[in-house]
Amino acid sequence: MLQGKTALVTGSTSGIGLGIAKALAQQGANIVLNGFGDTQGPHAEIAALGVKVAYHGADMSKASDIEAMMKFAADTFGRVDILVNNAGIQHVAKIEDFPVERWDAIIAINLSSAFHATRLALPAMKANNWGRIINVASIHGLVGSAEKSAYVAAKHGVVGLTKVTALETATTGVTCNAICPGWVLTPLVQKQVDAKAVAMGLSNEEAKKQLLQEKEPSMQFTTPEELGELAVFFCSAAGNNVRGVAWNMDGGWTAQ
Ligand code: NAD
Repeated sequence: MLQGKTALVTGSTSGIGLGIAKALAQQGANIVLNGFGDTQGPHAEIAALGVKVAYHGADMSKASDIEAMMKFAADTFGRVDILVNNAGIQHVAKIEDFPVERWDAIIAINLSSAFHATRLALPAMKANNWGRIINVASIHGLVGSAEKSAYVAAKHGVVGLTKVTALETATTGVTCNAICPGWVLTPLVQKQVDAKAVAMGLSNEEAKKQLLQEKEPSMQFTTPEELGELAVFFCSAAGNNVRGVAWNMDGGWTAQ
């Protein structure tokens, strides 16, 4: 379905970004990977799906790095057809204790990076009259949780940016939508499980159960594979007129 298209997925060396990159590659899209940590494993996993893969190590907190990455993608594959703004970090603390440097980093990586990548991707998408921008927001783009001020503010910002991008592209073949996952068991969430296990004297399994119990009626984690399939839907022809939505995959979190 996506043969000949190029997808750039930020923060795709791990977790949800890697899941989305794999799902798009399974549909035939060439992939530009980005993110820190092990890059060779994800590169090999995607290449094994029979598509072309390139990697750029842009630090998504830096506008100049994002500019270099977008140029690299265009130079390598001709154009970015699908942009998935996924890179993100978390920090948990009360507002009065929140390190200012962590606030700045979360706003830069979780929100401003999506603005920069979007503004740089749009001209070629509009010229080609086809494009997909998928912003990985969060359920925290729709509701708050205590001790996550920067994350919740950034993710609400991403949902707002999604709506404006959708409006500014509404008469074109470019669409922009957000995905709002509840708990997904990635390294980002495992850190919160570990913190809960220590704070409450629980085992890893008990801490996971406790985390789910607080928010998710389904008592199940959403998987990167399920989120990948949602991204594939947004890229399909059936998604041509799906514009500016913030789509939950949250086990009932926000239905309460
Ligand atoms: P993760 O920690 O597994 O992956 C994060 C990715 O972002 C990694 O590839 C990491 O290298 C990359 N990254 C971090 N800082 C970066 C930077 N400065 N520059 C470039 N890349 C950087 O986390 P995840 O859970 O897969 O999170 C992915 C996205 O999904 C984030 O935006 C997160 O907020 C969102 N999300 C996660 C959950 C969840 O429960 N895990 C729920 C809702 C939303």
